[in-house]
Amino acid sequence: MSNEVLVVAENLKGQWNDVTFELLAAGRSLASSLGGTLSVAALGHGISDSVRSLSADVVLCADAPELGTFIPEVYLRVLESLIAQRTPRVVLVANTSIGMDLAAPLSSRLEMPLVAYCRKVWAEGGKVLAQSQIYGGKLMAEVVLEDRGILAVMAGSFPPDAGKASGTPQVEAVPLPPLDGVRTRFVSLVEPDASDVDITRQEILVAVGRGIGDKENLPLAEELADELGGVVCASRPLIDNGWLPKTRQVGKSGLTVKPKLYLAAGISGAPEHIEGMKDAELIIAINSDPRAPIFDVAHYGVVGDLFEILPAIAEALRQRKR
Ligand SMILES: Cc1cc2nc3c(=O)[nH]c(=O)nc-3n(C[C@H](O)[C@H](O)[C@H](O)COP(=O)(O)OP(=O)(O)OC[C@H]3O[C@@H](n4cnc5c(N)ncnc54)[C@H](O)[C@@H]3O)c2cc1C
Repeated sequence: MSNEVLVVAENLKGQWNDVTFELLAAGRSLASSLGGTLSVAALGHGISDSVRSLSADVVLCADAPELGTFIPEVYLRVLESLIAQRTPRVVLVANTSIGMDLAAPLSSRLEMPLVAYCRKVWAEGGKVLAQSQIYGGKLMAEVVLEDRGILAVMAGSFPPDAGKASGTPQVEAVPLPPLDGVRTRFVSLVEPDASDVDITRQEILVAVGRGIGDKENLPLAEELADELGGVVCASRPLIDNGWLPKTRQVGKSGLTVKPKLYLAAGISGAPEHIEGMKDAELIIAINSDPRAPIFDVAHYGVVGDLFEILPAIAEALRQRKR
């Protein structure tokens, strides 16, 4: 068994995703503990210059018009044939939509076990281990790879700068395998509405959940957000109801935020919500149910009615400004 660690780079619209550099940082430390080498599979079109920013012992570069947009079926063919030829010990992919489109079918086709939602990966006594987050982060499982395997690593787990090349890596061209019989084709890239605020860049967020009761009550949260100099975001049910745009959803199927202040009102704290906000610097929760799980992650909690508390805080802030 080789001790090669192979990273699958992720490219969107000509840019290497930050998580690719995180994977390279993780891969470098794993490869040195195993006494192996670090390679990176870079797929795309017109990428022969940008691959030089990837820090690895060898960059396996598949540069072709067929790879200009992400078509999972095509990317899978290339990666499957590359991994089958090189038989790396570990394949690192990003635990993103693109990464998960690739990791699960690669695992089944190559008969390599997959550990998803990895927060840490390391080697000990010649074995590869991973810490994987389950139930949306409520539990952490430590997993040992007995043999070879695929690890899907969550963004934000490793420092990206360590994965950026300081010198010029060795680049090997990867020829495309036969692509006959591909049944999917790229139609268009649908981007989220860019006109809305980016909640991932806000320092102060007032988050509301189903406890707000009705769309008509949202101004309560908006007034408080205005007083605090922040913006309103929400749990998924409000987005599903169409009360706020998808760009305001925090959580597993929404966005991950790390503001200085996250004030959560009428949010129960389901694991899928917590996943997107637990790393906020200061979490204040308002909930009428003292047993609401949001209090497990909150730094400060108020057990009470948000319809009284939100206007009271906004009023107190107004008074202070007078
Ligand atoms: C695959 C998957 C992905 C998901 N992705 C996400 C996601 O990205 N983001 C997300 O948020 N959820 C997500 N969910 C849904 C998640 O499981 C929960 O259903 C959701 O987070 C619950 O939203 P909530 O806390 O607003 O509502 P509820 O769970 O209904 O909680 C409402 C809370 O309001 C409190 N309350 C009621 N009235 C008041 C009042 N007057 N004053 C104060 N408190 C009050 C209640 O005590 C309760 O705790 C996902 C689920 C799945 C299965």
